Amino acid sequence: MKTSRFLWKLYAAYVVLILLTASIVGLLASQQVKVAYRQDREEQLRKEADLLRDESHSALAAGQDPSVQERVQRLADTLGIRLTVILEDGAVIADSEKDPASMDNHRNRPEVQQADKNGYGSASRHSDTVNTDMLYVALPVNQSGRRLGYVRASLPLTVIEDRMAQMQTAVAVGVFVAAAIALLVGYLFARHVTRPLGKMTVAAMAIAEGEYQRRVDQTSSDEMGQLAQAFNTMASQLEERLRTINKDRKELLAILSGMVEGVIAVDRDRRVVQMNAAAGKMLQLSPSQCIGKNIAKVTRVEQIRESLSSTLLNGAEARGEVHLNTGSDQHLQTRTAPLLDSDGNLDGAVIVIHDVTELRRLEVVRRDFVANVSHELKTPITAIRGLIETVIDDSDMAGKIRKKFLRKIRKQSHRLSNLVTDLLNLSRLQSEESGLQRNVVDLREAVIESARELLALAHEKSLTVQQQLPEVPICVWGEVDALQQAITNLLDNAIKYTPQGGKICLRVFSGNQFATLEIEDTGIGIHPKHQKRIFERFYRVDKARSREMGGTGLGLAIVKHVCLSLGGNVSVESAVSKGSIFRMQLPVVTDPQAGQGQHSLPLKPPDEG
Ligand code: ADP
Repeated sequence: MKTSRFLWKLYAAYVVLILLTASIVGLLASQQVKVAYRQDREEQLRKEADLLRDESHSALAAGQDPSVQERVQRLADTLGIRLTVILEDGAVIADSEKDPASMDNHRNRPEVQQADKNGYGSASRHSDTVNTDMLYVALPVNQSGRRLGYVRASLPLTVIEDRMAQMQTAVAVGVFVAAAIALLVGYLFARHVTRPLGKMTVAAMAIAEGEYQRRVDQTSSDEMGQLAQAFNTMASQLEERLRTINKDRKELLAILSGMVEGVIAVDRDRRVVQMNAAAGKMLQLSPSQCIGKNIAKVTRVEQIRESLSSTLLNGAEARGEVHLNTGSDQHLQTRTAPLLDSDGNLDGAVIVIHDVTELRRLEVVRRDFVANVSHELKTPITAIRGLIETVIDDSDMAGKIRKKFLRKIRKQSHRLSNLVTDLLNLSRLQSEESGLQRNVVDLREAVIESARELLALAHEKSLTVQQQLPEVPICVWGEVDALQQAITNLLDNAIKYTPQGGKICLRVFSGNQFATLEIEDTGIGIHPKHQKRIFERFYRVDKARSREMGGTGLGLAIVKHVCLSLGGNVSVESAVSKGSIFRMQLPVVTDPQAGQGQHSLPLKPPDEG
């Protein structure tokens, strides 16, 4: 549509130009033809008057000649014009149109007066004699320097005008035909010029609607062809740039969605322009629903809104920490930075949110652990110091009592030693968690070995120890020492927390993927509220009792770490006053030959519970 409008505009200008040129050319040509024709006719009349001069010379010299009229008449008929012979005083002696006797004196006729003065006279005016407009040409007739009279040739102007009208018509027709041809050529030219433009317009609109691979044909090498080439180059560059932008955008989105940190970007009006999945998860929002909304309406977390607002106000970076209590404790570290446009003007702000909940939890755990270790170490040390001081201060102390004190000191130092050993074991396990050596170990042998060490203790308490072991080896991936340490800890607990005369059963069996070791006792049992926490370091159900029994509070934590580092797990089933079952599950080795030496495959525990 636009193309055709442009075509008509171009064509209209062309039409105006052609018509104007044609009119001017027509006007000038017809004027020129008119002047030339008149001059031509005048010249011809002059020649004819010259002929008449020869013819009438003698008659004029005689002053009168009856035959002159006849000769004039004949000549006029031959030439097809009017001829007049006039004496010097103005009397007409011959005229081809009228009887000279009835004619006026012609001395004052303009052409005659001019001929008298200049030797040649011409005039166009109305003739009363023939009652029509005429063109007159007069020449003087002289003899030996004496003026005899004048001859005059004339032609009705209508004859000239008719001829001139014919000629003007011919000029007009010529100009018209030329103009028509010019208009047709002009139309074709305008169409030729505008057609590529129209194609370019259509292509540009297609590109604007997303058809970036659209191009135009380059059919010529003129300016239009160069324009088409420039258009195609521009379209290619645009396509390339858009491809780059899209690629960058996709990469950015992939980075954003893969980030652990939450990212929210807002524009100058605080509208959310970007939010990644991590931010949505931390703030319990749906990113797609937040885009375009004001941040104040998106989140109720005051610190996040204020951080963004202040960065938008002063363009400065800001850091902060948010503590949320939405069901569970959440610690978020925030860092806000301004977003600048290409001119360096503030265009928005971005906040990066780092979930430090686990970090904070670990800090607390570490703090508690240090406090617990200090406390646990301090207790036996204080006791030992007190006991030693008492022995030193009381030099008169009876030998029996002194022995009793020394036994107590030995017990406390054993406790101290156990504690340090357990701490060292735990620290070794934690530092080697991912790199604990894994060899093929027959679980039955590890159980028999551990039981042998503790059998004496069980007998001391009159406990029955039963072993239900299969006849075939049950091979697991494990480090013998670590595995025996874990089994010993569990068996030691079973002995410690089972009253005299109780029963302990050691069971080993194999499933599809995991081998299981169960240590069941008929001891004091554990209340459900403690069952989850007994695997934490220094957690004890009954502190005093545990200490009394020589426990460090680290036994089960060591068991848990051994199991986890070997790709297994540990769990408990227990009922107060009835007893407990501690269950260790470890990945079973299906092909013991393949398992010789080290093994580094990641093994997934069946159930963390
Ligand atoms: P401790 O050195 O105190 O025994 P552990 O880590 O081995 O530390 O055990 C943690 C706590 O779990 C113990 O203090 C005890 O209260 C409880 N516990 C462990 N094993 C048993 C069991 N077989 N019967 C009852 N309670 C147990």
